[in-house]
Amino acid sequence: MEGKYANICVDISHEKVDRPFQYKIPEKLQGKLEPGMQVLIPFGRGNKQIKGFVLELTDDSQYPDELCKEIVDVVEGGISAEGRSIALASWMRANYGSTLIAALKTVLPVKEQVKQTTLREIYLNVSEDERKELIKEAERKHHVAKQRLLEAFAGVEALSYGFVTMQLGVSAKTLQAMEKQGILRIESQTLYRNPVKVDENMQTKIQLSEKQQEIVDAFCDDYKNNLRKTYLLHGITGSGKTEVYMEMIAAVIAEGKEAIVLIPEIALTYQTVLRFYRRFGDRISVIHSKLSKGERFDQFERAKRGEIQVMIGPRSALFTPFNNLGLIIIDEEHEGSYKSDGMPKYHARETAEYVALQRGASLVLGSATPSVTAYYKAQKGQYGFFRLQDRFGGRQLPTVHTVDLREELHQGNRSMFSRLLYEKMKERLEKKEQIMLFLNRRGYAGFVTCRSCGYVAKCPHCDVSLTEHGKNKLVCHYCGYETPALRLCPECGSKYIAGFKVGTEQVEERIKVMFPAAKVLRMDGDTTKRKDDYEKILSAFAGEEADILIGTQMIVKGHDFPGVTLVGVLAADLSLSAGDYRAAERTFQLLTQAVGRAGRGKSPGEAVIQTYRPEHYAIVHAADQDYEGFYEEEIAYREVCGYPPVKHMLAVLLTSENESQLTEAVNEIAGRLRDKAMEDIGADPWSVIGPADAVIGRISDSYRKMIYIRHGDYSRLVEAKDMIESMMEEKKKEYARCTVYFDFDPMSGY
Ligand code: ADP
Ligand code: ZN
Ligand code: ZN
Repeated sequence: MEGKYANICVDISHEKVDRPFQYKIPEKLQGKLEPGMQVLIPFGRGNKQIKGFVLELTDDSQYPDELCKEIVDVVEGGISAEGRSIALASWMRANYGSTLIAALKTVLPVKEQVKQTTLREIYLNVSEDERKELIKEAERKHHVAKQRLLEAFAGVEALSYGFVTMQLGVSAKTLQAMEKQGILRIESQTLYRNPVKVDENMQTKIQLSEKQQEIVDAFCDDYKNNLRKTYLLHGITGSGKTEVYMEMIAAVIAEGKEAIVLIPEIALTYQTVLRFYRRFGDRISVIHSKLSKGERFDQFERAKRGEIQVMIGPRSALFTPFNNLGLIIIDEEHEGSYKSDGMPKYHARETAEYVALQRGASLVLGSATPSVTAYYKAQKGQYGFFRLQDRFGGRQLPTVHTVDLREELHQGNRSMFSRLLYEKMKERLEKKEQIMLFLNRRGYAGFVTCRSCGYVAKCPHCDVSLTEHGKNKLVCHYCGYETPALRLCPECGSKYIAGFKVGTEQVEERIKVMFPAAKVLRMDGDTTKRKDDYEKILSAFAGEEADILIGTQMIVKGHDFPGVTLVGVLAADLSLSAGDYRAAERTFQLLTQAVGRAGRGKSPGEAVIQTYRPEHYAIVHAADQDYEGFYEEEIAYREVCGYPPVKHMLAVLLTSENESQLTEAVNEIAGRLRDKAMEDIGADPWSVIGPADAVIGRISDSYRKMIYIRHGDYSRLVEAKDMIESMMEEKKKEYARCTVYFDFDPMSGY
């Protein structure tokens, strides 16, 4: 935008961001201003000259011209940390759709005073040999927390009290008991300290393998030649990606630069955190959701002052205000948690690409099962590509059996457990080995399947699964297509055609009947309501307090359980048939991760995948742990149907408590978008899909409808978003009770 006016804020402490002031841009500065720049403005009654930040440029004035003051000049000197954050917020606003305030609040940490509490540190009082003895004893007695704490002390002098209680999950009572026994001492500390104090004498440096070294060298060559780009590191779990990241970071900070490492919260375990502390000691800081706003702000301030060089954390760590950022790493880049669920709905990978470009940094994406989007870009040469094919130490991948549930039905077995899985479970229970049962309910939306032949009802226009709507209808949640519910299977005539309904609780009940003596833990939304429930269940299972762990996708990520030798996937079809274009990708990723959970210890592992569609490519390739095979078939489907990454898609969600107003608004938007497409005919118009009811048509009395827009150029979708925004502004009286949300290249269904 050219812009005759600029909205300026004087200070970015939050209360004031809410009220920017408008200034006129003088002739000499027209076309020269950008969000994030600092300018001199006359302020207040005395027109004292002060500095302010440009938030956005606009052509509409809020006041009559004669009341609008003029900007004096641009403040010389580079863009400051705050200025860069403002520019980033402005980019996010434009590309993801949200208010500028919401975008600013996302990128700027909330300023809050940290309560001045005395910090405590825990020191070990025993020798290294005694520590090892105590670990053995704790292991024997199943003192899980104690064992974990003692293990954490390897190569470490002191741990902060907060780290031990929150991240290691050791209770105050256990600590007191250990202090009484003289194993450790707790000291008060007034100065801020890192949660882990590394014992420099005990730092061990590993020797990279040849393959790992090649990757680090290629990266460093580019870096030293001032070539900054994005790389995808495709390496199976355990292949040493984290070791590679650490070498890259070491190289970058040796040049006086800084690094940000994003790790999904669920994978940000104390083992991972400790590895980084042991390697980089005081130079790093870790943020996570258990920190208070004040503590987080504090960590960001330390980064700004240059006191640390590496920040590790989930999605929001991307906004760390380093001054010399050289490298961003995104581990497990395929993870859904990198997409924000609040407004703006930004994706950390794309935002990181912008930040890297803005700051002259490199970006490294790593995954065992890369997102189709990242792999596509790597294939097209837009990203550099590295590959690590072998597990370090040559540990074997588990043996996978796929069970055809249709066959089970034909043999008269109507239970949710196949005979093979039952037999294997029995065997493990007798051998006292552990079992994980995974029920994949992610994105589950009441699809309809034939248990006799595996037929799944699909939309003829969108090639995604139809979902049940009440008793009598099947609908497509992209285009709104409807068809009567099926009584008989159109493929084979069987009457075993129905919505797929099974929950973790039912699985647990069934196990109690089959194996009454087995000890079972269950992990799902219901059993993890409190903050530490998740950690508690995981550590109980890791401590072998149970034989079987049943759970949703939460159990397949992060933690390693050496005692597990069998993984059962109860119904692979649940996520396969979610009514959105990413269903196969998510299924492949989840199955690959689930299968990989078996046999992390000394004994080899086995996995059983139960499915009604054993021939589906996502299942076949997950069973083979064959990413390339999966990708080839998946990208062919995306090309045929025009789904991301081949084309881009914008999901527009409209909500309102007033159903008739909502229907009118959504129809008018779709109509205008279609009119525009007609105008553009012959000049590559966008396509408009819908309107349709959202998968969840109503949440707390608010109705929800969707429109999807598709085009090869992201910028055309931004244009569509702008068009919708200005239409809603123009009709703000008529549609006062409607709210619009935008989601670019959605990662999940609505
Ligand atoms: P990923 O991040 O790909 O899952 P990790 O970096 O966690 O893999 O490596 C898996 C295990 O193998 C870790 O315990 C790691 O320390 C070890 N490892 C990887 N590469 C080496 C190496 N070159 N020398 C010694 N140990 C290694
Ligand atoms: Zn059938
Ligand atoms: Zn459809």
